[in-house]
Amino acid sequence: MLWKSPHPDLDIPTDLTTWEWAFESPEHSHVVKNPSGQIGAYINAVTKERLGFAEVKEKATLLSSALIHDYGLQPDDTVSLFSTNTIYYPVAMWATIRAGGCVNGASPAYNVEEMSHALKTAGTKFLMTLPGSLEAAVAACKAVGIPSRHIFLLEGQHPDFKSIQDLIEAGKWCTPSPPHRIPTGKTNQEVCAFLNFSSGTTGLPKAVMLSHHNIIAQCHQLRQLQLVPPGQRYRILAVMPLFHITGLVRFCNYPVFMNGDCVMLPGFTMDSMLKTIVEFEIPELILVPPILIRIVRDSVVDKYLPDLQRIVKRWSSGSAPTSPEIIELLRKKFPDTGFRQGYGATESTACISCHPPSHYDYKYATTGGLLCANTVAKVIDLNDPTKELGPGETGEICAKGPQIAMGYLNNPTATAETFQNGFLHTGDVGHLDEEGLFRIEDRIKEMIKVKGQQVPPAELEDLLLGHELVEDCAVLGIQDTYAGEKPKAFVVLKKGVNPSREVGLKLIQFVKDKKVRYKWLAEVEFTDVVPKSPTGKLLRRVLKAKDREK
Ligand code: AMP
Repeated sequence: MLWKSPHPDLDIPTDLTTWEWAFESPEHSHVVKNPSGQIGAYINAVTKERLGFAEVKEKATLLSSALIHDYGLQPDDTVSLFSTNTIYYPVAMWATIRAGGCVNGASPAYNVEEMSHALKTAGTKFLMTLPGSLEAAVAACKAVGIPSRHIFLLEGQHPDFKSIQDLIEAGKWCTPSPPHRIPTGKTNQEVCAFLNFSSGTTGLPKAVMLSHHNIIAQCHQLRQLQLVPPGQRYRILAVMPLFHITGLVRFCNYPVFMNGDCVMLPGFTMDSMLKTIVEFEIPELILVPPILIRIVRDSVVDKYLPDLQRIVKRWSSGSAPTSPEIIELLRKKFPDTGFRQGYGATESTACISCHPPSHYDYKYATTGGLLCANTVAKVIDLNDPTKELGPGETGEICAKGPQIAMGYLNNPTATAETFQNGFLHTGDVGHLDEEGLFRIEDRIKEMIKVKGQQVPPAELEDLLLGHELVEDCAVLGIQDTYAGEKPKAFVVLKKGVNPSREVGLKLIQFVKDKKVRYKWLAEVEFTDVVPKSPTGKLLRRVLKAKDREK
């Protein structure tokens, strides 16, 4: 059975770049429609610095001109942004898009090896980062042959590196370069604008190619499901990282389209988040389940409770399942607040489905919402992919729509496996009910999600296999109350090595030394053999089933 969206079809432009749509189009751009009126802004929650979108347009124009004239940035060049949330991140993003480049975001906490892999995978030509990540960035760029003059600071100063503020100044001395246009004979569906990392169904992180159309379409789809009371400005708080797909869409692109204010929280603490919600009167919070857990459990919330109950009109969650127990506790604490959930992946530019205003209610909270406009879905049998299932029947979820990505950069095999006849094969197991509400039950893909962030088991397995004591291994996600999941390694030790607590701790420390914090192992279990198919493929599901039986 093919499931259709219950929402009216949307007319989504196919000829505009994301830049033209956001800043130049008389139909879509508030900066054009509303030049002397109230324009939205990116706002620093701590310093209160406010970059209005007209100013963003001006700065991005200067920055893109400097990148083209002084540094030779070419269309399709990748610019990687390794940064925490700052209001200058979207300036760099828009400048890159204006110049025709591809924007790639990644965690600034990556170590040199992780960054090098990211830079190679995304084919990076330029890197922008913050002072705290500069040392790793310099080493990673050296390792992959990116010249150090192509490294820039998004904020702060350093004697050996230019900041984007320096480039914006330099841009004033260049003839402004014209904005990049969609080449004649092409549509915006065929031109890549963003590269976001995802491990997809298997293997190491890959660069997902998102077109201009993907981003524009997702913003139009989300607007259709958005409730902004008349006379009120759309306001949102960027808690989740801008380098994740949700952050890229919701906090960088969507606020410009909505002419809203996006308040950026540079460093997360529960207290700073809650204080900012109250100070800026943020009516909707887009969060991941671990933060919702803290909202119901952390005593610091009590300090702000009456204000939060008055201000927050809606919790919004996604990236990982939310448990019914947490929803119930949330409902008790905030009985008059709405709730909605988005379900999707990097490969679907965030949402495949989401709750519309009619479903902003705790009673739907454990579902993934209804299909976004212009989107269809099918659920296929796990043993026979040619068999399409009906309501309530569980299988792999597949979706097709304008938000489905172009594929993986330089990886035709993974692209062909994951994107089939326009359908994204999500690797998620679930069903749609009679009403068309998604219910996500499990994952057949390998990915582990720790606090909403992806941990590809293959990455940890590759690392552990390089350890002198390890003969073979497999990494699985195990349930964790707070993080959702955490990685656990099943290890076969080399002949003659005795399994002991010390060896387990050594392996845990080995991963700690080499990987960013959210990828750290929660547990090591020694085993005699890792189950494999006759062709040598690791049988994760067998291992997982055995582990669940314990
Ligand atoms: P990412 O590409 O990092 O956004 O991860 C995508 C994956 O996160 C999906 O394929 C799902 O496995 C999981 N996911 C995303 N949203 C939800 C949700 N609302 N409920 C359950 N799992 C989700």
